[in-house]
Amino acid sequence: MYSDLLTTLYQSHKESSLFGRYITPKMIAPLFESIGQEYDVSVIGYSVNQQPIHAIKLGTGEKRVLLWSQMHGNESTTTKALFDLLNAIISKEAVFEDILKACTLCIIPMLNPDGAALYTRLNANGVDLNRDAQDLSQPESAVLRQCFDKFLPDYCFNLHGQRTIYGVGNTGKSAILSFLSPAQDKQRLVTETRKIAMSIIAQINMQLQSDIPDSVGRYDDEFNINCVGDTFQSLGTPTVLYEAGHYKNDYNREITRFLVFKSLYYGLDAVVRDSDRNHHHRTYFNIPENQKNFYDIIVKNTIVDENSGKVEDVAIQYTEKLDDDSINFIPEVVAIGNLSEFYAHNYIDAKGKTIFAEDNTQMQIGYANVFVLINNEKITLKAP
Ligand SMILES: [Zn+2]
Repeated sequence: MYSDLLTTLYQSHKESSLFGRYITPKMIAPLFESIGQEYDVSVIGYSVNQQPIHAIKLGTGEKRVLLWSQMHGNESTTTKALFDLLNAIISKEAVFEDILKACTLCIIPMLNPDGAALYTRLNANGVDLNRDAQDLSQPESAVLRQCFDKFLPDYCFNLHGQRTIYGVGNTGKSAILSFLSPAQDKQRLVTETRKIAMSIIAQINMQLQSDIPDSVGRYDDEFNINCVGDTFQSLGTPTVLYEAGHYKNDYNREITRFLVFKSLYYGLDAVVRDSDRNHHHRTYFNIPENQKNFYDIIVKNTIVDENSGKVEDVAIQYTEKLDDDSINFIPEVVAIGNLSEFYAHNYIDAKGKTIFAEDNTQMQIGYANVFVLINNEKITLKAP
């Protein structure tokens, strides 16, 4: 029911200085400056390379919500959406009044600035911060934990991005957004804490179904105490994992950004109305689990081995590479065979013709080039 209003708000408040996948500390520094003129923006610590890590506090309510993004430096979609949301909030849009009255938000838009600058998942020491929740060996992990211990959140939103390989169960639909209420023990018990996070996710999902029917996935809940979400959940704070996923040709993740913007609102709105929680958590399990059954491109009905003449499929996956301040998507053949159980964001139908590498040799796994030859014609594999 909020969908149209949120669309209008997004269009008027989208942070226009942020676009695409490569979002760096330099790009967001001026945004902190302008937000800081009116709101509480502070440096809560420094990264390995001495980049400041900022937090923004908003709202006056009792429910304390801690949100952080870009713990993995190359997962920038949720960061863009956070600034869109912040723009709408600081413009005093009325729809946020209830949230700001009921909640105090602490927002860390970029926990891993070094990884963001390098466009890597890891921090500057090559550590995955989402496996460092117990050791706290890295300054960024310690910053988040100190913030958690000091702010004492009632809810956490742990914001990530996911690769293009995930489908919603076996429906053939891409997981445009995924969520998880992490386990807090090896038995994956459905504790009261988990139920609250599940209920929030179920309510977000219910709203999203009108925007993106059957395109929301649920992450598998294997327990790993070294993950931040599992740790915070085990400490009794309901923690919602958001994963910004992929839709068709949206390699810049701008469509997903808009859907994350909406989902952040839906999540906070669910926090405000948490009396619904016990009714909703059961439907969390109706969200299909993610499957790794998507490729970027599948070339269908092609002959790889001219001797056998067998009709097969060729799967191509992009590797993201930072080059001159932008992200290049390098296509690489990752599977050849009968791929009828898999789906792709884009298909090329070879109609039974032979596929060759660009130098006319037989197609092999590991072939990385922007073209293939099908029936002697150059077919581009470039990201749209
Ligand atoms: Zn991540």
